[in-house]
Amino acid sequence: MDDSLPAAGALPFEHTYAALPAKFWQRVDPTPVKAPRLLAFNDALAAELGITRGDDAADVFAGNKVPVGALPLAMAYAGHQFGHFVPQLGDGRAILLGELIDRHGQRRDLQLKGAGPTAFSRNGDGRAAIGPVLREFLISEAMHAMGLPTTRSLAAVATGEHVFREGPVPGAVLARGAASHVRGGTLQFLAARRATDGVRQLADYVIARHYPEAAHAPRPYLALLEAVARRQAALVAQWQHVGFIHGVMNTDNTTLSGETIDYGPCAFLDDYDPGKVFSSIDRAGRYSFSNQPALVRWNVARLAETLLALIDADGEVALAEASAVIEAMPAWSEASWLDGMRAKLGLSSAEDGDQALAQDLLEAMRAVAADYTLVFRALAEAAQGREPEGLLALPRSPAFDAWRARWRHRLASDPRTAAVRAAAMRMANPAVIPRNHRVHEALVAAEQGDLAPFEALLAAIRRPWDDTPASRPFMVPPEPGQRVLQTFCGT
Ligand code: AMP
Ligand code: MG
Repeated sequence: MDDSLPAAGALPFEHTYAALPAKFWQRVDPTPVKAPRLLAFNDALAAELGITRGDDAADVFAGNKVPVGALPLAMAYAGHQFGHFVPQLGDGRAILLGELIDRHGQRRDLQLKGAGPTAFSRNGDGRAAIGPVLREFLISEAMHAMGLPTTRSLAAVATGEHVFREGPVPGAVLARGAASHVRGGTLQFLAARRATDGVRQLADYVIARHYPEAAHAPRPYLALLEAVARRQAALVAQWQHVGFIHGVMNTDNTTLSGETIDYGPCAFLDDYDPGKVFSSIDRAGRYSFSNQPALVRWNVARLAETLLALIDADGEVALAEASAVIEAMPAWSEASWLDGMRAKLGLSSAEDGDQALAQDLLEAMRAVAADYTLVFRALAEAAQGREPEGLLALPRSPAFDAWRARWRHRLASDPRTAAVRAAAMRMANPAVIPRNHRVHEALVAAEQGDLAPFEALLAAIRRPWDDTPASRPFMVPPEPGQRVLQTFCGT
């Protein structure tokens, strides 16, 4: 521990968001809890943020001890949920403490999720249960370890109180870091109130904080829209590379920074199935695995609507410019997806047939319900001239065998050596993902007071590229009886 760093109770907070007009947020203090106890603490992230754990970490991250210099507030936002516009959502149980400048000079929000009611709680209790808190901790850390943009988990603290969901369950608070918590829904909140100045102020804020280069573009707000669209398209492509399904990718869960946020009913594919839906509330498949690029494009179109008046005074010009961005999104999504698929397949060069090669592999996988993660990992072995066996044995089917022959042929025209290619493939294809059944098992144990499975899983997902004797148990797909078929909007 570095004693020169400030402990959690005295952090050098800054408050650029709180400097925005009062209609953007509401001041609110966390509601203290009975018996705070640290469940997990992310020392690596703390070091990045310039914090040491300190003796008071449980009190601080439960909200019992508001750090000196914090200015706790709930952010206002709206959002389209399942396609329906809700003009006021807001942080119903999350409280922003302030911003910290990390050791790379980046401004990061620090927020407590589950810290008590706010003006936006509606009928909610402002609290979070231990299961969803630890789920977010695990999955956000897995995403980060795999190199995906995401909010981060700093601490999980048990409250010593129960929250009531289907029945009483132990409560917890998650301390989370984010590049910012501004969402598409934040601009929608202002636009819905016809607060044109507010939209402009917030758009300027986002440009300054996340896209400073847009300020110098001929049309800064169009440049902002395009930058967000590109980042979101790239993000969703990365989700697809690792088999992730967000489950509630609504406009209020679409960050303007391009980070993944709000790990509710999210899940990872076991066998490859493009139509896969896990969320119990997603009956129409709106948030299915393969629909995610179309869905995020829809979300960005809602964002575009909030910016039209700023893009050009002439409504028709603004609409044409914004539409061009939305129309370009499928091509950006495709390109990001194909880039990542080339890496997954061990290709360092680009050829015309690569798209079909990747697509046909997926189709061959779908036909035999092959495990999405293990097939790519096995291909890394095969690329080195070894026939993968055991857990990594490749599926055998006429379509799969034919595909392998095509792939081998394609690799022959790619410049790298087999060893270099295989090593690169092992860094593009995770061996360890937070498998749904493992996450489920860890959360059930944690609810009953046993953190050992959570800690073991957390250690494993922090080394996603490792196929070692220690990681093997976490690589195994679920037995039929272990399969998680549905996830619930965890609160
Ligand atoms: P989420 O599904 O976590 O993205 O949340 C959607 C909206 O519901 C946000 O406005 C949340 O703040 C609010 N919300 C979710 N759970 C609770 C809760 N237990 N108490 C108050 N508000 C909540
Ligand atoms: Mg949300």
